[in-house]
This record gives sequence, structure tokens and C-alpha cells, in this order.
Amino acid sequence: MHNFGYRSGHYCVENVPVHEISESCATPFYCYSRTAIETAYDAYANAFSKHDTLICYAVKANSNQAVISILAARGSGADVVSEGELRRALLAGIPASKIVYSGVAKTVPEIEFALNNDILLFNVESEPELQQINSVAVRLGKIARIAFRINPDIDAGTHEKISTGKSENKFGIPWQAARAAYADAAKLPGIEVRGIDIHIGSQIMKLGPFEQAFERIADLVGQLRADGHTITSIDLGGGLGINYNTESDLAPTAEQYAALVLKHLGRLDCRLIFEPGRSIVGNSGVLVSQVIYVKHGSKSTFLIIDAAMNDFLRPSMYNAYHHIVGEKDSGGEDVLYDVVGPVCETGDTFARSRKLGKQEAGDLVIVEGAGAYGAVMASTYNTRRLVPEVLVEKDGFRIVRPRPDYDSIIGMDTP
Ligand SMILES: *Cc1c(COP(=O)(O)O)cnc(C)c1O
Repeated sequence: MHNFGYRSGHYCVENVPVHEISESCATPFYCYSRTAIETAYDAYANAFSKHDTLICYAVKANSNQAVISILAARGSGADVVSEGELRRALLAGIPASKIVYSGVAKTVPEIEFALNNDILLFNVESEPELQQINSVAVRLGKIARIAFRINPDIDAGTHEKISTGKSENKFGIPWQAARAAYADAAKLPGIEVRGIDIHIGSQIMKLGPFEQAFERIADLVGQLRADGHTITSIDLGGGLGINYNTESDLAPTAEQYAALVLKHLGRLDCRLIFEPGRSIVGNSGVLVSQVIYVKHGSKSTFLIIDAAMNDFLRPSMYNAYHHIVGEKDSGGEDVLYDVVGPVCETGDTFARSRKLGKQEAGDLVIVEGAGAYGAVMASTYNTRRLVPEVLVEKDGFRIVRPRPDYDSIIGMDTP
């Protein structure tokens, strides 16, 4: 987490102390570092600078318009999984020619919208979806460029809820059925086959599963070409893990990942597409929250903070570990806390028996590594207002999504 840490005893994002931000934006709020996002993107771009590559940021990791526009300005494309995300990417300035559309079940209106905007590619996940895209394209008098998402049946060794490349997962065409699927696609008038696609999971911490998948893809490209198909792009999805626990995690770097990719697929004369999400924004953001009460239970001390599971779902949904630190540098004098939110569910727990500096009501705490799958998964459960987002740019900050007022939530309903 470069760009995040203590300066003169206070926690800062770039050059801005978070306690200053909390004076203009009430807690809880997400806080992102522009420099961190740019640095993470550049690591990919530099690692692949010698190869024809398109980096399509996976918008679902963090879809704030400010975040997408930072990446658009860097030359990034986008990987989208819904019409809403496609609209976000276009509005943030990503050209349609750099947008790929993934996802297991694109609907007819979504396919129409994507075709009318002339996106680069659909990543097709099933035979029925192929037929649907073809018929919409024929009806609109257009040609849909596609790649098939292949399920390589590989265990990415990640959390079961974010593993996607095993045969029992709902994603993609089984690799054994790939040649038949391409043969069918070649017969369809509204379809132009361009390439092949995989995405085997998220938060992958070892290169081994990637290597197995790349070998399988290299074989398939050879077979498909021998069958007469033109394969000019290989989309390798996202999934590279990040270090949530800086003491124990050791994710592969973009350079190590790139070396492996190029070793297996560099010679195939294809454009390489990547869809990183978490590894661009995950360690580019934190969640800032305030201690409401310190409660002494019979077994542990609870730090009850004003952020809850509806604001940040990862700890309760995936049992995810996140560093939690106090706004004031404790200088190593730590106390054990159970850090919990105010929602009436035991799942509303951010950490158990966690060491951090002694806190009092009103103090700020920071949940680190919250830039990916944080704000995008937030809800208004408990009629709590949607958590705001702040972007720091060197010495300044701006609120890039304000907290809505109660009327805009309750007023949506019809009594
Ligand atoms: C979620 C997803 C990604 C991004 O995954 P990360 O782990 O955030 O890099 C990329 N491609 C597809 C198809 C996805 O579903």
C-alpha cells in the first residue's frame, strides 16, 4: 500500500491526512489514491510494452466514474459485464473499440446496446448465448465479433466463491467442447470469430494455475487454427492476486506474470487482452470509519465502528482479511479488538482479536486494501445511506460520489 501510511503520526492518503477529509465528508467513506491506480495500471502496461496488448480494466472491481476516467486517460480499455457497466465505461471516455463484454448471460437488450455501440468483442459463454448474439446481430444488420470463453478445468486455488475455471463452475464452454463451438460459430452469418478467452478466478496468488491454463490455451489455438479458424486475439482475463496481508501474502508481480504469459503465448502472433480488476484498484483504496463505541464484552473488547457489512461486504462474504489501523500512529502499543459494525448480524464483523492502537469513541480507523469489490458491492441494507467515495490527487481531494440523502432512498418507494 504505497501512497498510504503515517506522516507526522497521522494516516495519510498521498499527501492528505484522512482526518482532514473527514471534516468535509462524514465517515464511513472510501478513499482512493489516483497515483496508486496509475502506478498499478502502468505496471501492467510496462510489463507488456513490447507486445501487442490491450489492457481492459475490469470495471466491476470499482466502477466509479472518476476511477474509470483515470484509466481511460492512461489508454486503458474496459471489460464490462452488464449494460450498466458498458454505459459507465463509455461515459468515462473509454472508446467502444477497447471494450470487451464478458458475463454468463447477456440479455437481448444488452446485446443490442453493445452492438449498436460497436464494441470490440463479446466473450461468449455458451452455445445458446452464441445463437442469441447471432440472431440479434442479423436482425440489426451487424456482425458481432466474438471470442469463446473457454473453461479450462483448472483449480485456481482461490476462495470457492471466486473460483471460475473449474469444470463444475458455471462459466465458459468446457475446453473439450471448444472445437465444436467454433465450428458452429463459423456457420453463423452474424458472427465473426476473433479469438479465445479465459478467466479462471480472482485473487490468485500462485503462477501455477495460470501456467496450466496458458498451456491449454496455446494447444487450443493450434487446434482451432488447424481447423481453419482465424484466431487473432487471446484474452487471458484477470485474477492476479494482491497482498492484503503485507506480512504473509506474496502475490506475483505484473512483471512475473507477463514473463509467464509471453513464454507460453508470446509466439502465437495474437493480440493479448487482459482484464485486471483487483490488481489495479484493490490496494489503491481504503475505507475510513469512526469508532462509535468501545464495548468491553466478557471475552473480548469490541471496537464498534460506523462502517458495516452493507458498506464493505468482503469480510463477511469471503472471510477476507484486511489490515485495520488507527488514524493515529500507535507507535506499536497495541490492544486486541474485535472490530465490528452496527448491523444486527454476527457476520457484520471486520476482524477478530486484531491488534491495533488503543482507540476511543470518535477516533478514526482505516480498513486497508478496500479499493476493489468495496464500494461496488455496497448496499443500503438497514436503510443506511450508500457509502460515499473520495479521490485523493496528491495534495488535494474531491468527493467523487456523495452520500445520498434519506429522501432519495426512502422516496424511491411508493407507499
Ligand atoms: C471478475 C472478472 C475479472 C476481474 O478479476 P480480478 O480478479 O478483479 O482481476 C476479469 N474478467 C472477468 C470475466 C471477470 O469476471
